[in-house]
Amino acid sequence: MANRILTGIKPTGQLTLGNYIAVLKNLPKLMNQGDLFYFIADLHALTLPIEPNVLRQNSIDLAAFYLAAGLDPKKATLFLQSDVSAHAELNAIMQNYLYMGELSRMTQFKDKSAKMKESAIGLGLFAYPVLMASDIILYDANVVPVGEDQIQHVELTRDLVNRFNNRYGDVLVIPKYEVRKVGARIMSLSDPTVKMSKSDPKGDIFLKDDLAVIRKKIMSAVTDSGSEVKFDPENKPGISNLLTIYACLKDMSIEDAEKQFVNSRYGDFKKAVADAVVEELEPFQNRYKQIIETKAYEQVLKEGAEKASKVANVTLKRVQKAIGLLGK
Ligand code: ATP
Ligand code: MG
Repeated sequence: MANRILTGIKPTGQLTLGNYIAVLKNLPKLMNQGDLFYFIADLHALTLPIEPNVLRQNSIDLAAFYLAAGLDPKKATLFLQSDVSAHAELNAIMQNYLYMGELSRMTQFKDKSAKMKESAIGLGLFAYPVLMASDIILYDANVVPVGEDQIQHVELTRDLVNRFNNRYGDVLVIPKYEVRKVGARIMSLSDPTVKMSKSDPKGDIFLKDDLAVIRKKIMSAVTDSGSEVKFDPENKPGISNLLTIYACLKDMSIEDAEKQFVNSRYGDFKKAVADAVVEELEPFQNRYKQIIETKAYEQVLKEGAEKASKVANVTLKRVQKAIGLLGK
């Protein structure tokens, strides 16, 4: 069977370089390795408070970014999660096969709810992994490319699928995550001990930032004591993060990136990283602007929703039948 690849991003904020490296950078390569489903996880974006206008604008931006990254609608399917009602329908079923104890152990839930009052934590934030499992299951996805922070949710999906199949027979495809060897967790430039995140912008490089601003952010990134450009995440988290960014964008190993800067000072090294980021993002931003102007994403999303619904509804029917719902 050809690979079925599914991956998504939440339109919760402006996309970061972390999102780019996790999902967008590899898109052209993946398009030739299987049947691709890329989605805008707008239902997931509701799990923390968000203004309607912001959600709308973020969703449009995200669609344009996928296209700017090289998504070819003839080869891959791009859609909005909320356009395919099977996501919500399967979610209503799957919530019965994941347990409170499991959900309360999820790191993302613990991190995102840590600063909130219990009375303000929505049920959707807690139940997030149920919807994510439903997203994956609907497309019979066997490959799910993610950053490191989402591994736990894909593992939970595997548990759910095994549990379901043990009870009902071989109904669901068991997914596996695919995480980059280098760049699975891009860190904040101002605090390299925390992840770069779009909903908690601190030391982020945004894909829409002015190129001059990006240069400035990289030149003033927190570095470490000493003067050697060396990959040592424990003692040199700042330099290691910049080396990782460089290696990812140049498609090289950390060792090769390290070798290139053996005799460099921090300043020269940072300049090289800034050049690499600008070189990557300049043409990307130009394509993005053009797509926004022509609204090319509108037709793509419309056709994408139709294609995705067809596939998702077949799986939904299969599940409904297996568990004893009568249906049409
Ligand atoms: P939020 O703060 O809203 O959770 P996010 O930046 O974490 O935003 P998501 O929409 O949660 O982005 O994740 C989209 C994809 O990007 C996922 O595959 C996730 O693992 C990946 N990702 C997110 N942040 C990073 C990062 N700093 N480094 C590498 N991958 C990342
Ligand atoms: Mg996240």
